[in-house]
Amino acid sequence: MKIRYFDHAATTPVREEVIKEMLPYFGIEYGNASVMYSLGRNAKRAMQDARRRVAKALNADINEIYFTSCGSESDNLAIKGFAYANKDKGNHIITTKIEHHAVIDSCRTLEKQGFNVTYLGVDEQGRINLEELINSITDKTILVSIMFANNEIGTIEPIEEIGKITKERKIVFHTDAVQAIGNVRIDVKKLNIDMLSLSGHKFYSPKGVGALYVKDGIKFTKLQDGGGQEYNKRAGTENVAEIVGLGKAIDIIYNEFDEYNEKLKKLRDYYITRVKNEIKDSKVNGDIVRRLPGNANISFKNVMGTKLLFELDKYGICASSGSACSTDNLEPSHVLTAIGLDNTLIEGTLRVSFGKDNSIEDVDYLVDKLKGIIN
Ligand SMILES: *Cc1c(COP(=O)(O)O)cnc(C)c1O
Repeated sequence: MKIRYFDHAATTPVREEVIKEMLPYFGIEYGNASVMYSLGRNAKRAMQDARRRVAKALNADINEIYFTSCGSESDNLAIKGFAYANKDKGNHIITTKIEHHAVIDSCRTLEKQGFNVTYLGVDEQGRINLEELINSITDKTILVSIMFANNEIGTIEPIEEIGKITKERKIVFHTDAVQAIGNVRIDVKKLNIDMLSLSGHKFYSPKGVGALYVKDGIKFTKLQDGGGQEYNKRAGTENVAEIVGLGKAIDIIYNEFDEYNEKLKKLRDYYITRVKNEIKDSKVNGDIVRRLPGNANISFKNVMGTKLLFELDKYGICASSGSACSTDNLEPSHVLTAIGLDNTLIEGTLRVSFGKDNSIEDVDYLVDKLKGIIN
């Protein structure tokens, strides 16, 4: 059976060109990037090329990019690493109720260690209130961490406005941009972003590699002890091949930016229109305008999302439900709860996230099967 993949917010397939670029570093170019001889220098050079590509995509400098093992590690390093290094300046952090667990749980850990955290609520569309942000700031506030775009409902937060607020008050601003890479043009200087997390497997490079941008001059401590890799901020021999892959993938996605995002938007709008017209009692979640082009999050009344996924799987369709992203966690989603959706609608939620290889024909297949199952 043909697999129809609509879960690109969970992970994406690796591009052929990315695999090709990585292959030598799994093979003949096996040098350790920290050594002196040419085999190692080749690895180092390839890694620095990747670092330059990431920096270019964000309008950052090459020495501001740190490679990590994933988006979760980048979030941990940004939040805990910054908090530990700056606790003499204050112990208050502001974030939101709809962050990825890598951010929320990092904050929870800090709370146990004497930090105070404000978790901002969001409106029905999933957007934070800027007044509320301003009012939560105290003279102890050292860090604001607000995601660029939400992984469940696709809502894009008012990043530019947040950056202005934090800059004016000299508070450091971190954003989890894992879902935004490739879908939004990001200029960290123009947006006054001080730290930014990203993850390779959300934009067609492999799982197990991520990056953190930290503006020059911002102090943070490493969380893992060992060698002096990554400007002495992340010990451990670098995953050269995957770092090369991430660099290639970020380059491609921004080179094909307009074409790629137009395509996603067309698929998403077509899907939403068909569902709204043909399946009754459906509700689209998240901000309709300020939203990721590939995300469609829809709740169906009197439907069990997990059952729906199971039925769709029989037809080779991969999508996601309103329960937390892990299969063994059936807690209602904290994001859908935060936008005020009641539990029965949360249970009937289906997240569809489109990618570069989806077609209109795939969407028709999806809607036809969905209709059949729900009706
Ligand atoms: C996927 C995701 C992460 C985690 O990235 P990993 O590389 O899977 O650890 C963090 N934040 C958001 C918004 C995500 O979508």
